[in-house]
Amino acid sequence: MSPVDGSELVKKNIKAEAMRLGFSLCGFTNAEPPADFYRYEAWLLQGCQAGMDYLNSERHREQRHDPTRLMPGVKTIVSLGWRYPLRRPDQLNQADLFQIAGYVTDTDYHLFLPQRMQLLSQILHNELGNEVEINVYTDSAPILERELAVRAGLGWIGKNSCLISPKFGSAFLLAEIYLDVEIFPDLPFAGEHCGNCRRCMDACPTQCIQSDRTIDSRKCISYLTIEHKGEIPLSLHSSIGNWLFGCDVCQMVCPWNQKLSMFDPRSILKDLSVEETIELLQLDKVQFADRFRQSAIFRAKWKGLLRNALIVLGNSRNPLASTSIEDFADHVSDPDLGIMARAILNNFS
Ligand code: SF4
Repeated sequence: MSPVDGSELVKKNIKAEAMRLGFSLCGFTNAEPPADFYRYEAWLLQGCQAGMDYLNSERHREQRHDPTRLMPGVKTIVSLGWRYPLRRPDQLNQADLFQIAGYVTDTDYHLFLPQRMQLLSQILHNELGNEVEINVYTDSAPILERELAVRAGLGWIGKNSCLISPKFGSAFLLAEIYLDVEIFPDLPFAGEHCGNCRRCMDACPTQCIQSDRTIDSRKCISYLTIEHKGEIPLSLHSSIGNWLFGCDVCQMVCPWNQKLSMFDPRSILKDLSVEETIELLQLDKVQFADRFRQSAIFRAKWKGLLRNALIVLGNSRNPLASTSIEDFADHVSDPDLGIMARAILNNFS
């Protein structure tokens, strides 16, 4: 099958609509298996997926390797980037302020990005006909997103493992549209622009960035405070510093994220004070759900967020925090959190 008539015009129209809907990046590629799938396999072999065992399942590996295993008949993939705000490097390690990763804006992106993707797929139907099969994915299927984005011409994979756009930096959520018609692909992004820089590798508090541009999740603060279930070893607590949920250090220090244009004015980032974080310790499960159901923080669940709050409060060495952790240890119903609170108090000096 040859590319659809007017491929270039369809692409131009879709890219313009994507920008109108708020996306900052949009590119087209084919559905060939990503050439650097081997890096993913090597990453799994090292156990860098930590507790995310599903990443090593046969289905996940097959669908990441071959897009046609996710959607039979797919011929074109549209790669999209949605910007989120990032703090500046001078906002790292602020005393008595606890940080939440930039992607966690007021509303969980799972609740608003799919609607925009559906609007875009409707426009694709208008351009290409209703018989065209279109599937949209927003972090909802096994896809080697960054590799496809490079192939769609959107940027390169930096040493911090993020996709970096020379125009907008790296603070992106990526999303994809799979189509069963062939559209001329864009030219892949040529080269990489990290050069000799290694600021992200040096700045990472746990040194979890590996030389092959992958992350060892077992040490990654983002993984530990969001995806990891259960306790976090005491030996890692001090590295977590003031990151209450997620971590952006490797992006905040990157020179490609320092231009004013990188800071998306659509969202305001809010850090939590000691008092606000102590309030989190007082939430019960129902109150937690009421407050965070619409937020990505919901993913950590009640126990995970309170675990994180205990860690950052312990790291703060703030006397108010000490009293609150002690009170929490005396009253919490969850025995794991109680033990953890006591262990943190024992380390408090
Ligand atoms: Fe590349 Fe430097 Fe940015 Fe790391 S901080 S991703 S090495 S440019």
